[in-house]
Amino acid sequence: MSCKAGQRHHPLRIRQPRLSETLPGIGRPPPVFKVALTPPDLSAWRAPPSGVPGVWIFDSGRPGPETVITALVHGNEYAGGWALENLRRQAPVPSSGRLTLILANLEAFERFDATNPVMARHVDEDLNRLWHNMRLNGRDHSSELDRARQLQPFIARADLLLDLHSTLWPSEPLFIAPPRQRSAEFACALAAGEGLPRTVLTDLGHHGGSRLIEHAHFMSPGGTGRSCLLEAGPHWEAATVTVMESAIERLLAQAETIHLCGQATQESCEPEMAVVTDNIIARNADFSFIRPWEGGVTIPEAGTPLAHDGHDLIYTPYDECMLIMPNLRPRRGQLAVRLARRTAAPLRS
Ligand SMILES: [Zn+2]
Repeated sequence: MSCKAGQRHHPLRIRQPRLSETLPGIGRPPPVFKVALTPPDLSAWRAPPSGVPGVWIFDSGRPGPETVITALVHGNEYAGGWALENLRRQAPVPSSGRLTLILANLEAFERFDATNPVMARHVDEDLNRLWHNMRLNGRDHSSELDRARQLQPFIARADLLLDLHSTLWPSEPLFIAPPRQRSAEFACALAAGEGLPRTVLTDLGHHGGSRLIEHAHFMSPGGTGRSCLLEAGPHWEAATVTVMESAIERLLAQAETIHLCGQATQESCEPEMAVVTDNIIARNADFSFIRPWEGGVTIPEAGTPLAHDGHDLIYTPYDECMLIMPNLRPRRGQLAVRLARRTAAPLRS
């Protein structure tokens, strides 16, 4: 049986009369993470010529797109630090317009400790949940909020913004675009390049707050700013840097065309669009997946058990259900996994 668009064949959650003994469970895997990539030397970013720590600007002197590449929005995701430091050392000159490279949360990065590598994600709060104008223009202060305000002028002038991220748990690399046609086109133009992830995921935001790619500059219906995020692979592996560098190379080669036409000139593959349908939040501290699912896997049949959550069992609600970045040890109230369905075309603005 195949799913028609929007159809569901199975409930997402079913309460069990008692904890099922018949289904296998992986329990909660111990949080041991291998740090195979050493942290980069980012000393050149502390006091760059731009006058703003973490911001390097390369200007072609010719009119053209404002291209912005951000990394280290999460302080322990330093594969992106490697990718931008390698690029900075080449003193890249865009063929037109201006290129701005931003290492966003250097303060958190400087706290990185390989014996507890998940700690340096942020100092006070997640820098990738603060980009709504209500937070940016509010009265609160935190290390990350103050930094977001400092970086905002560079973000608000971007024609094209690529935000580089990596994942804690194993996951196929993918692009994520906010729900705007122009940004979905941008992500598809990158995804059509050789050796790049083909999946472009769109969603309706993140439950914890607005991400950088959802800044008003990229979300306003009449605007022109395009943004996307790349989840390039596991945090501390060299292959993740390679995926990021391939995306950067593609962006720099195609920036002008994407900016003017919304598409690239050379396409070596057809991107695959997917849209998030469900956010599965762990309601209980004992939430555990039935298998250590890898992000990006597609489960063929509706009704396949995915996880235990207290007395509930979580199932795939439809056929060909894609799992987006499962968090194999979610805390109560945390996002455990998102479910996505393949679609034919980008969401319309
Ligand atoms: Zn991240």
